[in-house]
Amino acid sequence: MNYTECPECGNKQIIEYGEDTFRYERSARTGKLLRRSLGEGVWCAFKCRCGWDSYKEQFEVDEDDEGEKR
Ligand SMILES: [Zn+2]
Repeated sequence: MNYTECPECGNKQIIEYGEDTFRYERSARTGKLLRRSLGEGVWCAFKCRCGWDSYKEQFEVDEDDEGEKR
């Protein structure tokens, strides 16, 4: 999921961060990049200065749902 602003506070200066691994083919003679493809383990997340973090958000369990079942 892509974010352009923080869903918590509306800040548009959020930071995208992550890991980018890719395979490539490069000409050994000229150094020109011929092909690049995304490999496995590529991920990115967004974070804001208010503490919101889209990476942490997906692991968070909503505790309210657990309580409602009783
Ligand atoms: Zn925020």
